[in-house]
Amino acid sequence: MAVEATKLDFDPDALGKKYQLERDKRVRSDGNEQYQEVKGDFAYFVEDPYIDNELQRDALEDEVEVVIIGGGFGGMLAAARLREAGIDDFKIIEKGGDFGGTWYWNRYPGASCDIESYVYFPLLEETNFVPKQKYTNAPETLEYCHIIAEKYNLYDNSVLQTEVTSTEWDEDAGRWIVSTNRQDRIKARYVVHSNGPLNRPKLPAMKGINDYKGHTFHTSRWDYNYTGGSSHGDLTGLKDKKVAIIGTGATAVQAVPHLGASAKELFVFQRTPSSIDERNNQATDPEWISTQEKGWQDKRRRNFESIMTGGMVKEDLVNDGWTEAFRLLFGSLRDKAPSKFQIFTWSLTSVASPKLYKNGFKQYMTDKVTAFMDLAKSMEIADYKKMEKVRARADAIVEDKETAEALKPYYRQFCKRPCFHDEYLSTFNLPNVTLVNTDGKGLEQMTEKGIVFEGKEYEVDCIIFATGFEVGTDYSRRAGYQIYGVDGLSVSDKWSGGLSTFHGMHSRGFPNAFFFGPAQSGFTATYTYSLDEQSIHLSHILSTAIKKGATRIEASEKAEKKWVETIIEKSRLTADFQEKCTPGYYNNEGQINPKPQNNMYGGGPIEFFGLMKKWRSKGNLEGLELN
Ligand code: NDP
Repeated sequence: MAVEATKLDFDPDALGKKYQLERDKRVRSDGNEQYQEVKGDFAYFVEDPYIDNELQRDALEDEVEVVIIGGGFGGMLAAARLREAGIDDFKIIEKGGDFGGTWYWNRYPGASCDIESYVYFPLLEETNFVPKQKYTNAPETLEYCHIIAEKYNLYDNSVLQTEVTSTEWDEDAGRWIVSTNRQDRIKARYVVHSNGPLNRPKLPAMKGINDYKGHTFHTSRWDYNYTGGSSHGDLTGLKDKKVAIIGTGATAVQAVPHLGASAKELFVFQRTPSSIDERNNQATDPEWISTQEKGWQDKRRRNFESIMTGGMVKEDLVNDGWTEAFRLLFGSLRDKAPSKFQIFTWSLTSVASPKLYKNGFKQYMTDKVTAFMDLAKSMEIADYKKMEKVRARADAIVEDKETAEALKPYYRQFCKRPCFHDEYLSTFNLPNVTLVNTDGKGLEQMTEKGIVFEGKEYEVDCIIFATGFEVGTDYSRRAGYQIYGVDGLSVSDKWSGGLSTFHGMHSRGFPNAFFFGPAQSGFTATYTYSLDEQSIHLSHILSTAIKKGATRIEASEKAEKKWVETIIEKSRLTADFQEKCTPGYYNNEGQINPKPQNNMYGGGPIEFFGLMKKWRSKGNLEGLELN
């Protein structure tokens, strides 16, 4: 390492100390409690601003084989895979006015997806859809959701503008009773819970939120009636308005350039800066996409996620900012690999002198082991290199030195969601835009007129909360409904001491219920990839159960216990990394593993998908009790 360190143009030890310092000043004892729930006095923050006409209909008294809760990508994929398997008797219940989930709600100006569209959009080969650009935007994504819904005839099975209020298991009938806010009572043999991991907006528990007399909303319910314009920007309603935005996460990074371009004055309140790398979006080459061979999309998303989790691949197909940190790492590992000449020499010596060959090979293996022991260190160095480039970018683009410094992130790239944007940093050069750097402290107070920070009142006409979504709070609080299983046990009670599932999808005491999401499952940067894998898994289980004549599926106690132990054991693999990270929802606001079973599968998604594939290939649904 000493040799490598001399080649660096930064001091890794000094950076390590700086990272620690920045983290320490942000860790708070109240963790998730620093946020308040959007209910009661705050319920207006989650009203649906996108429906033209509220649906009027009678309550449903129905019975179906499968109820899918959630009409986002998860619910749509579940439905699509069930249709493919010949299971058509299902209903999708969705609280929004249409399909789309995250993309239905998040229509803020500039909203787009940072994951390459060719891997993010699921079912591209099935729909033959060609995204216009390498990185798509929210309108195109919502349009694509409608294309999927139409291709798989999902509108015929949809119950829109309807919120599930509870699901209760009736053991005698062998059915779930799904109740909704429209007094529906739908009986279903199976229920799929695909309610979205970032579904419930959250607000900082700031004093005086409801005293504020100006206009206010959360980014996931953008009020275009007030701002004018659209997801593409041009917010004409703001031309005479002073606007504040709280938060500088992935959402704010995309919205701020449009606010800066349109508002009379913009104050951006920052607690922790995001890492802002180049976007460099490009139009899709239709010839390239039309000449891809069958199975290309799965190969591509697998390649991407393999790189993202440190796997060795021959080629980086996506080749973008996400994978760059890992390319840097591979470069350093390749330096340690034997050269072609070395291999040639060994092959000669293996014939001429087995002893020499043995010694040479032994030496190589020793080097290799050392290299892998250095892996963690190499990854850290690669990360420092990457983040130094990100920080240099702030210096190069932002004219005011103090502002540039405040915009530099001092943490490892994957401690927070990395961002990619070509206009965010330069927005701070506009004369009407002010960065209010709270230097890790965050905001605590609002007044009738605006926001107070360190004794100064910022009077504004509008305050926009870009403060993210609940993660790590009680499952039913985030889902918005309770699940009552065998003997009336609620999922909140069962999981009050920590999550307990089999493969993240089943939980004993909740027969015929299927949970979609990252908890105790494989999590991917390309979230639609995990959802697609879960849909394939669901469809396999239901098809197999039908073939076997089973109607009740429940995780065995033994299998669930073993899976929880696996999750706990694997959570140690990521604990050290998370411990050193600045707080955020990625690391439970800095409170690492108080319940280690509340983690994702620590071996990474590719390993997890492999495990699930192997499990499916056995065909006996091992670990599930069928009746
Ligand atoms: P985040 O949770 O990432 O960001 C919330 C922001 O609010 C943070 O900057 C946070 O600061 C700040 N904040 C919270 N409390 C306070 C306070 N009291 N005072 C000041 N600031 C405060 O939410 P986002 O909506 O930005 O993103 C959520 C996720 O959605 C992303 O991580 C990503 O997964 C997804 N997404 C993806 C996009 C893409 O593909 N480009 C775009 C948008 C969202 P701090 O960092 O200090 O906690």
